[in-house]
Amino acid sequence: MSELALSKFQYLELEKIGFGAFAPLDGFMNEDEVGSVADTMRLPSGQVFPLPVVLDLSAQDAHRLKGCARVALTFEDQEVGSLSPECFFRPNKAALATKIFGTDDANHPGVAHLFSMGEFFAGGPVRFLTRAQLDISPYELTPTETRRIFADRGWKSIVGFQTRNVPHRAHEYLQRVGLETSDGLFVQPLVGRKKVGDYTAQAVIKGYDALIHGFFPENRVLFGVLSTFMRYAGPREAVFHAIIRRNYGCTRFIVGRDHAGVGAYYGKYAAHDLTREFDGELGIEIVRLSGPFFCRLCDGIATDKSCPHGESNPSAIREISGTDMRALLTEGRAPEPEIMRPEIIDSLRGEKLFIEETEL
Ligand SMILES: [Zn+2]
Repeated sequence: MSELALSKFQYLELEKIGFGAFAPLDGFMNEDEVGSVADTMRLPSGQVFPLPVVLDLSAQDAHRLKGCARVALTFEDQEVGSLSPECFFRPNKAALATKIFGTDDANHPGVAHLFSMGEFFAGGPVRFLTRAQLDISPYELTPTETRRIFADRGWKSIVGFQTRNVPHRAHEYLQRVGLETSDGLFVQPLVGRKKVGDYTAQAVIKGYDALIHGFFPENRVLFGVLSTFMRYAGPREAVFHAIIRRNYGCTRFIVGRDHAGVGAYYGKYAAHDLTREFDGELGIEIVRLSGPFFCRLCDGIATDKSCPHGESNPSAIREISGTDMRALLTEGRAPEPEIMRPEIIDSLRGEKLFIEETEL
């Protein structure tokens, strides 16, 4: 049988399809599906699905595999699954980028990633055979596992939290708000391929270990990473992240400020607006929260919904920005305790904090 060797991030896409993390997808999208998702944020069946999930390959491989009924998919010399190809097609990447990301600017990391992919896409159902053991696998749960844990713990309402950062106080605030009205909290940081300057998976894992073990009732919080790559597609990716968490068994999902955004490409609350368009269709409730900040007068973390000082005493407000936090940590300086817990900073000692090279 013909074979196709997968890169790590292609393997991770296959694995997520195999886990059911991208349900209702049962394979890589064919041309109609990519077109439908790009144009309408829906699969041809009408189900909401905002981003393409594709298998890219070179023109040579597309030519070589054309006509094969089944293609064995390998990763690191191990057969991990197979594809029954329905079609091979050459996407118009600039047009696709403009629809998905709102720009075809190659400085946008999601666009750059799309442009770096193979010239052709192969679509068709897959069979997932074997889970590869990666360094982050011990920290990753499958949807079957999380659903079982939620049931064992008797949780009926579970709030999912997406992140790609070491937790600071604003994240913690959002998690506590979610937890106050849910049976359980599922913190699921995304640790697949990210961009240079993003936190390493180990830093995020260590930081959350310190937060959850030190400051949350452990029997009300579950932690597991999600190894898929950041698309940086802003509002569309917020919908995608919600669908994924529904598939893991969450009943609610927190969408904060500039969810999955990058630079100034998306409006601060564009993800709130887009998710609202699909209310009642996603199979998961979206909890839309404002971006928390530290207020000196309130003497704590608050939002513009709970603190009146944004207008009257703007100097009392300290925005908590992940970018500022990263700059401080890069310089070896510690953010103030009201911004990031000292115990979390301590937990990071000796860890490589930031991604220095983009993995392919
Ligand atoms: Zn205040």
